Amino acid sequence: MILILFGPPGAGKGTQADLLKEKFNLLHLSTGDLLREEVSNETALGIKAKEFMDAGELVTDELIIAMIKNKIDNTTSVNGFLFDGFPRTISQAEALNDMLKNSSKEVDKVISLEVDDSILIKRLLERGRSDDNESTIKNRLDVYKSQTLPIKDFYSKDNKLIQIKGNQTVEDVNSDIVSNLS
Ligand code: ADP
Repeated sequence: MILILFGPPGAGKGTQADLLKEKFNLLHLSTGDLLREEVSNETALGIKAKEFMDAGELVTDELIIAMIKNKIDNTTSVNGFLFDGFPRTISQAEALNDMLKNSSKEVDKVISLEVDDSILIKRLLERGRSDDNESTIKNRLDVYKSQTLPIKDFYSKDNKLIQIKGNQTVEDVNSDIVSNLS
């Protein structure tokens, strides 16, 4: 099974990913978490990525695609993948399709968590990660709308999109997702 958790910063993708990966035995691949690990280990990739992340800009497609490809190629014995924060551009979505096609797989469903901006901003300010300051948040939401939202159309044309109200309790969001998947 190949699932994508889709939605703006603060939509609750990481929280839902923790619940879904257990239920379906999927490898959770969060590009944000993977990048933060690279940054804290001061790898060549981390050093390149940090500037983009601090500014709320996207890290280049080339770096992200190579990082994901490496994970997919080096993983065995899971039921599938749960992508979180990836793909974030149409080029990344196309690259993912190509990678999966190589092993005769495809994306099964894209779970879109829908939450209003005002709630997102409040959640992110409360979360208080180092890139969760007011100006970076605004930029991340702008980048989301211009570069990432078009992906919804890309997957809805393929009938893969599931839209979920993200403005509910964690449990209710989870049960909505699970009932839509079965
Ligand atoms: P959030 O979605 O809450 O903003 P993430 O942890 O998903 O946080 O991402 C943090 C930062 O990492 C992003 O602002 C961006 O700079 C970078 N990033 C994460 N995933 C991607 C991706 N797929 N493509 C490009 N940049 C990414």
